[in-house]
Amino acid sequence: MKKEKMKCVKCGGWAGETTLVIDGFRMRAWKCKKCGEEYLHPEDAEKALILNKYKRGMKVKVGTLGESTIVRIPKELAHALGLEKGKEVEIKSKDAKHIEVVI
Ligand SMILES: [Zn+2]
Repeated sequence: MKKEKMKCVKCGGWAGETTLVIDGFRMRAWKCKKCGEEYLHPEDAEKALILNKYKRGMKVKVGTLGESTIVRIPKELAHALGLEKGKEVEIKSKDAKHIEVVI
């Protein structure tokens, strides 16, 4: 990624590129070198909002596809997680009520 400078809205100082990790999600950001104000990359901020939204859970219907049982992942969540056709993930049974998908 090209190094870009950005002016801080709060103090007018220069903000440099940085990476913030929130809940294991690496987000592109800028941090003001003068006052420390942080600015998230708008695309990553949007993804973080979507991930946060699905923390509360969402009901989806179980379906079948050929011999497989399928659970649909909403498009916006798949996009935020970087899930796309052909990507390999790992499924784990946690207990009688939970499964985990590790990306
Ligand atoms: Zn500043």
